[in-house]
Amino acid sequence: MAYDNGNIFAKILSGEIPCDIVAENEHALAFRDINPQAPVHVLVIPKGKYESATDFGAEATETEQAALCRLISHVAEVTDIHKDGYRLIANTNRNGHQEVPHYHVHILGGGDLGRILP
Ligand code: AMP
Repeated sequence: MAYDNGNIFAKILSGEIPCDIVAENEHALAFRDINPQAPVHVLVIPKGKYESATDFGAEATETEQAALCRLISHVAEVTDIHKDGYRLIANTNRNGHQEVPHYHVHILGGGDLGRILP
């Protein structure tokens, strides 16, 4: 399926829609989720046009992949959740309930998150 240039994260990347930026590097952007599910809830997205975790893993360059990984670690440190712990989630496609068709990793922390699934 072709990447949807009108998705909300594409609009955030183009500056059309504002966001609460936590950090960024050349290839990835981190901003606060508009509907937080934990005391700390940050989304990390690649700046390139990748629809899902599958696409990002298969098609992104190693430089882009490394930049996203490094930004996740950086966000965990600057939000001070790295010591007590946190959870990464990448909802993917229909069964994963992915709502926004631009790859994103949720970083959730700031308290006990319970087991991985209810
Ligand atoms: P997912 O189900 O993994 O696709 O989750 C998409 C996430 O994007 C949800 O947690 C939404 O709250 C979040 N979201 C949607 N629009 C915005 C926005 N404009 N700024 C920040 N987060 C957003």
